[in-house]
Amino acid sequence: MTHRVKNFGAGPSALPLPVLERIRDELLDFEGSGMSLLESSHRGPYYGRVHERARQGVRRLLGLGDDHAVLFMTGGAQTQFSVVPMNLLAPGARADYLVTGHWSELAVAAAGRVGLARELWSGRDASFARVPRPSEYSADGSAAYLHYTSNNTIYGTQLSSPPDAAGAPLVCDMSSDIASRPLDLSSFGVIYAGAQKNLGLVGVTVVAVRRDLLGRSPADLPPTLSYKRMAEKDSLVNTPPVFSIYGVALVCEHWLALGGLETVGERNGAKAERLYAALDASGGFYHPLAERESRSSMNVVFRLPTPALEARFLDESSAAGLAGLKGHRALGGIRASIYNAIDLEAVEALCDFLTDFQRRSG
Ligand SMILES: *Cc1c(COP(=O)(O)O)cnc(C)c1O
Repeated sequence: MTHRVKNFGAGPSALPLPVLERIRDELLDFEGSGMSLLESSHRGPYYGRVHERARQGVRRLLGLGDDHAVLFMTGGAQTQFSVVPMNLLAPGARADYLVTGHWSELAVAAAGRVGLARELWSGRDASFARVPRPSEYSADGSAAYLHYTSNNTIYGTQLSSPPDAAGAPLVCDMSSDIASRPLDLSSFGVIYAGAQKNLGLVGVTVVAVRRDLLGRSPADLPPTLSYKRMAEKDSLVNTPPVFSIYGVALVCEHWLALGGLETVGERNGAKAERLYAALDASGGFYHPLAERESRSSMNVVFRLPTPALEARFLDESSAAGLAGLKGHRALGGIRASIYNAIDLEAVEALCDFLTDFQRRSG
């Protein structure tokens, strides 16, 4: 038996075991080609079919129609922080940002280096422990776009529904909760996500761009950074990260075969409910950092009474086969990332450990 821990890491993160097994089985001789996909031309028929499977997989899993182009880009979500304004923010126009954590702070700063970017709301003074209520900001339809981060991976907060952009295109960094539940994406201008959390292997960024926005890409952008050029060339402007895109195809097909986002969303809801219930039942021993109505269903962040107890918690959980629970260095504490590939059984194991650790430490 292969040794496998329960991996609560924030990213790169756990992959569905059947996906890893399939990659292993297909690694040396891909579909009878006599070579690995790692060795085959990105213009050849074997990769060509994988590319199409990945595009269709993303479309079907996310429920995206023909109004959106699905692109595979590189440089991670952080490169999109600049690529979004480079494509969508014309000179003299203004983009609005909801600043709900570390990643949106970087996103608004990157936009400010390209053009005019405004913080419509910031949770900095509230230590990013919550996301805004709709009454706390008022979007302006004349903005070039409204950008937000749907799930704040470090702080463990999440918007339960998309903000009202008052008619401006909505742009979303969905890196850590894409494909985690059913969501109508038809009205979004741009969504982007590094694949390494819920969609597959690190190395590719999945981007969906509403086609009516493609005309905004300036003609002098580097072609690999231009939404318009990438859409025209079907993401094959240069050599794409073929193996990562193959991973996206396999992960999307895996969840589609199990029932798609309805099933995924129910599973994720049950997992988060179970874990927060365990924390809440601890009488304050475990202290979730996010305010209740802003709690993330993907990243559960909490503290223990002392840093020394947290250090012991991390040592002992790791020894018990529960990996990746160390909180982000900006916050300390514990973070359990319970992305799609983490099943309820893994969450139950973590809850049992929580109870046991508290009893032994109390
Ligand atoms: C992980 C993460 C990022 C950074 O992604 P990279 O692909 O490493 O650039 C950005 N935004 C969010 C919300 C994330 O979770």
